[in-house]
Amino acid sequence: MLLEVRDLHVEFRTRDGVARAVDGVSYTVDAGETLAVLGESGSGKSVTAQAVMGILDTPPARITRGQIVFQGRDLLTLKEDERRRIRGARMSMIFQDALSALNPVLTVGDQLGEMFVVHRGMSKRDARARALELMDQVRIPGAAQRVRDYPHQFSGGMRQRIMIAMAIALEPALVIADEPTTALDVTVQAQVMDLLDELQREYRMGLVLITHDLGVVADVADRIAVMYAGRIVESAPVHDLYKAPAHPYTRGLLDSIPRLDHKGRELYAIKGQPPNLTHVPPGCAFHPRCPMARDICRTDPPPLYDAGEGRRSACHFWRECRDDLRD
Ligand code: ADP
Ligand code: MG
Repeated sequence: MLLEVRDLHVEFRTRDGVARAVDGVSYTVDAGETLAVLGESGSGKSVTAQAVMGILDTPPARITRGQIVFQGRDLLTLKEDERRRIRGARMSMIFQDALSALNPVLTVGDQLGEMFVVHRGMSKRDARARALELMDQVRIPGAAQRVRDYPHQFSGGMRQRIMIAMAIALEPALVIADEPTTALDVTVQAQVMDLLDELQREYRMGLVLITHDLGVVADVADRIAVMYAGRIVESAPVHDLYKAPAHPYTRGLLDSIPRLDHKGRELYAIKGQPPNLTHVPPGCAFHPRCPMARDICRTDPPPLYDAGEGRRSACHFWRECRDDLRD
């Protein structure tokens, strides 16, 4: 097991009260596996990822419980300089906004090269050659002419490729991509996702792919964990989840994306808004929005039921939900 997040809890103290941004999240990622983490905005996807990367600002955030076991060691017990060594070299992160993640005053060649100088002790000249190879590898057209350009001189899609190049430069075992294509238009989204998928296979990286858009990750993910209000409410191999979601929230997310095989079916939107995490509804946090909700859902928080076949669902009625859609 490459990464195991165990019962992670992260809180923010706010004026309105304590926001349990991550409320008992557990997941695993194997080498060579892609886990998609899916959920609406504010569900705790980024905070979980930042806790794993060790870039969470504490304060305001507080990790109150849990373990993050990476390559056999609980990262939460390590000192900051040890974590810094792991970051970049053994795990790295790709963000939504490349323009703010890249250094605006360094050429992309220097920026990529610096990774090899700092972490690998390469000469400047060798580092520049490696930078160029990387730019080719992420398929930046005319890379040789563009190594001396600055980030702002590239299009959004090309900048995202540069950030991917930075992330894979030191061949990390784990990459976390937080909404890596959200800012791009649809055609470019698919190209960038294909590139990530290809590199992930080539390097056998573990990949955590965070998204609010199930459509984007369906082809590249092995498994999906769906988050709602700081918890994982369903996890399953991607094809099973697609075919027959075992949680009404997942079902709502699925029904709200256009699908070729559902032609003619009306496009659906989940009613209401996700809760403010300082005031999460009692029982199942999703019950006020759930078309299947019954009395028990208003009072009893559902455990993450074992739904068999490597699947889990935090719905009291997961069986009905799933079977309803099975052929
Ligand atoms: P997302 O799933 O969109 O990535 P986040 O992980 O960024 O969501 O945030 C999860 C929750 O954490 C938010 O809904 C909010 O309640 C809380 N949160 C995040 N950052 C802060 C902050 N700086 N201060 C207070 N609360 C925060
Ligand atoms: Mg986020």
